Amino acid sequence: MRPHGSPADLEARWRRAVALLETGLGVRQVAPHIGCSPMSVSRWRIAVEAGGAAAAPAGEAAATPLPPDRCLICRNRSPDLICTRCRARIRGEALQRKHLAEREGRVS
Ligand SMILES: [Zn+2]
Repeated sequence: MRPHGSPADLEARWRRAVALLETGLGVRQVAPHIGCSPMSVSRWRIAVEAGGAAAAPAGEAAATPLPPDRCLICRNRSPDLICTRCRARIRGEALQRKHLAEREGRVS
């Protein structure tokens, strides 16, 4: 099975998925946001819970492991997988998207 996109693309998606999951969103909310199936997101979540950032999908991510003390998104120093600032930003984006989706749903 070969996922769409380059390894870098996949890694970017994976990071985003992990970040969104970190903000407390569910697999089904994250999946359409990333463009992956809920099953992929669910697998990633399990992998992350089991192995942390080292659980990134094979490809570029595996070749360049992240230091554990850095934010996955901005790579600034952070004790968390996603720093507080990125977490807040992602949560805001997700909320905005949700509101947009709701509005579109009402209009159409
Ligand atoms: Zn960050």
